[in-house]
Amino acid sequence: MTLKRSWVASANDADHPFPLNNLPCGVFSTAGTEPRCGVAIGDMILDMAAAEEAGLISLTDDPLFDVPYWNDLMEQGPAVWAALRERLTALLAEGAQERDRVEPLLVPQEGATLHMPFVVSEYTDFYAGKHHATNVGTMFRGPENALPPNWLHIPIGYNGRASSVVVSGTEIRRPWGQIKSPEHDRPAFLPSRRFDLELEMGAIVGTASDGPITVQEADDNIFGYVLLNDWSARDIQAWEYQPLGPFQAKATATTISPWIVTRAALEPFRCDTPAREVELLDHLKDCGPMLYDIDLEVTLAPEGGPATTIARTNYREMYYSSAQQLAHHTTSGCPMNVGDLLGSGTISGPTKDSRGSLLELSWGGKEPITLDSGESRSFLEDGDTITLKGAARGNGFTIGFGECSGKLLPALEDPYAR
Ligand code: MN
Repeated sequence: MTLKRSWVASANDADHPFPLNNLPCGVFSTAGTEPRCGVAIGDMILDMAAAEEAGLISLTDDPLFDVPYWNDLMEQGPAVWAALRERLTALLAEGAQERDRVEPLLVPQEGATLHMPFVVSEYTDFYAGKHHATNVGTMFRGPENALPPNWLHIPIGYNGRASSVVVSGTEIRRPWGQIKSPEHDRPAFLPSRRFDLELEMGAIVGTASDGPITVQEADDNIFGYVLLNDWSARDIQAWEYQPLGPFQAKATATTISPWIVTRAALEPFRCDTPAREVELLDHLKDCGPMLYDIDLEVTLAPEGGPATTIARTNYREMYYSSAQQLAHHTTSGCPMNVGDLLGSGTISGPTKDSRGSLLELSWGGKEPITLDSGESRSFLEDGDTITLKGAARGNGFTIGFGECSGKLLPALEDPYAR
C-alpha cells in the first residue's frame, strides 16, 4: 500500500505519523471548549462533533461525536467503523469536493489538549512476550525454570484496574508500598525504590461478547490499538505476587497514547507470530497473520536533561497476539465489553538493547545502563520522563501513534497526610 494523498499538506510527508492512511481517533479540547471527538490528519485535528453538526458525517440518527469518548462509535459495530473510515477518506483526500466545508472544522494540534480517547471499561494485562518472560523468569527462578509450564499453552494475564489508566502527559507519583528486602527479617512500608516502566501495546475491544469466541471473532472485535506503559513497582511486586500475581505493584498508573490507531489502519502491516514451540490447542491457534510490524522505542529523559533511547524493539516479537489473548479471556464465558483494554505484556526483543523494561535492561539492577547525560540508571529516578513511540512504516507513509509519555514525581513525604 502507498500513501493516500490529502489536501492537508502536512499529512503527505512520508515520516508524518498521521497521513490519510491513518485517521486515528482521539478526544481533544481547545481553550474554553469542552472535550470532544477528533481525528488527526497531518498537523491538524478534524473536529468530529462539528463535522457531524454540519451534516458532513451522519452515520446514525443520534449524534456520536459530541462526547469525550469514542465508546458510542465503537458500539455501532464494524460496518459503521468502515463507513466512517470511507467517509473521512473521501472528505480529506486530495481533490475532495467538500474541502471548503471541511477546512474550517480543522483545529491545529499545537495548542489543543488531548484527553483519554475512550472510557476504559475494564483493564487486563498479559505477559505474552517470550523474551520478556524468559528474562524475568531467569532472574527470579534461574534459566531452567524461566518459563512456567503453562506459558507456551496460554497467554498468562491478570485483571488490572481501569481506574488508574491515564492519558499521555499525566504525571505519575512514585508509590509507597509494603516491601521486604532480603537483608531484613520483616517487611517495611516505604516509597518504591525499584519503580519501572513496561513497553506494551494496548488493544481496545470495540464489540462486546458474551461467551467464548474464536480467535477470528476476537480479531474482528478489536477496534484499535494504543501504546501502553504499565508502570511497575518491582520491589512491591516481588513481595506481593505469590500466589495470585501482581496487585498494588501495577495499580499506581497505566499510561496510554492519546490516539486510537484503528485495526483498519494497521491492516497492511500484519505479520506472523513466531514459530510455535509446542502446538497450541485448537481454540488458540493462529487464524492468519496475527501480529503487526510496528517499530517501538523507549526514551528516558532525566529532569532537565536530554532524552536517551534506552530500547528499540518491534510488536512482532510477541508470542501471542491480542486476538489470541482476547479469545483466551472469553473461554470461561467471561463477558467482554466495549472499551475493555488488553495490555499485550512487555515487548522485549532478543537482544540486550531491545528489552522493554529497566528490570531487564539493568538485569535486576546488577548492570545499570548509562544515559547520554552520563548518568546511570537501574530503575527510575524522580523527575525522569519516559516516552514510548511507535511507527508502522509503509511505502512512502508512516502510521504513528503519538507519544505515550509520563514524568515520575517524587513520593509524597507522608501518603496518609490529610
Ligand atoms: Mn505489564
